[in-house]
Amino acid sequence: MKTIFSGVKPTGRPHIGNYFGAMRQFLKLQNENDSGVNYFCVVDYHALNLVQNAEEMRRLSLDVAIDFLAIGLDPKKSVIFKQSDVSEHTELAWIFDTITTVPYLKRAHAYKDAVAKGGEEDVSAGTFTYPMLMAADILLYDTDIVPVGLDQKQHIEFARDTALKFNRIFGETFKLPEAYILENVQTVPGIDGQKMSKSYNNTISLFASDEEIEKAVMAIVTDSSGERPENVFAIHKLIRSESELEKIYEENKGKYKILKELLIEDLKTFIRPMRERRGEIAKDLNFVKKVLDDGKEKASGVANKKMQQVKKSIGVI
Ligand code: ADP
Repeated sequence: MKTIFSGVKPTGRPHIGNYFGAMRQFLKLQNENDSGVNYFCVVDYHALNLVQNAEEMRRLSLDVAIDFLAIGLDPKKSVIFKQSDVSEHTELAWIFDTITTVPYLKRAHAYKDAVAKGGEEDVSAGTFTYPMLMAADILLYDTDIVPVGLDQKQHIEFARDTALKFNRIFGETFKLPEAYILENVQTVPGIDGQKMSKSYNNTISLFASDEEIEKAVMAIVTDSSGERPENVFAIHKLIRSESELEKIYEENKGKYKILKELLIEDLKTFIRPMRERRGEIAKDLNFVKKVLDDGKEKASGVANKKMQQVKKSIGVI
């Protein structure tokens, strides 16, 4: 019996990097974990570092819940809920902040990236302490496995370190989680060749329309060496076998337009059914809200019990 936990930030439309890097594994683990519990969380308090508009936050949060259902997460098999609905997440994050040092948090790649982009003055304290909120998300549920993309590997290590540190100071309280990262996927590149990310404007949306797919693929940056267009190939191999593609790319060496057109067709076939499913689910928002309400109830019960144990460990009750 395993406990699975993962989250997605409501900061914009999910992209194929989110799907192949993490969300597809949510589905696989959910379907294999019959006797365990799966938590899939809309991590809205993490998104608050970026989304600071009430209407937008409401819309984007509901969107992630719809996305979860559209990819096949099943409320009968998984607890689908919103982070802000279970206040124990932020409560525990504070406790972790008190046993964590500033130099340790400064090692986080996400923090370093934020400093590199805008300078330290513009990095919110929330962005800085974000790994402790993420540790709280995971550790509250005695999680065994955290399916994530490679970019999150360090944050899972932070969660493990934090569990170990807490256990050392206050006694055995938290289980050590393991990251679940697929070796052959790792980091999906965006259309500009950098990591595909909602923050970089370089994505192919998981629920893109046919026109959006065409536009995004045509904009994939290629060099003009006449060799295999690696950025096109890297995306293509997510949806078609590599050996098959190697042959096709060899036969069409240097013919970037043909290769891009092939990728467009394959992406359309792959995305269409999921997009249509999403459209159906989005018509019944009451159902989606009910899923989140049920999830809140289930997650709260577990989180509350764990917090009682934590509070006893630290001596506030
Ligand atoms: P983003 O980086 O686009 O804002 P999130 O932080 O919401 O996405 O990430 C949701 C999940 O998708 C995480 O587990 C993350 O590791 C994974 N992920 C995000 N971008 C990629 C990518 N380019 N390749 C593989 N996995 C990714």
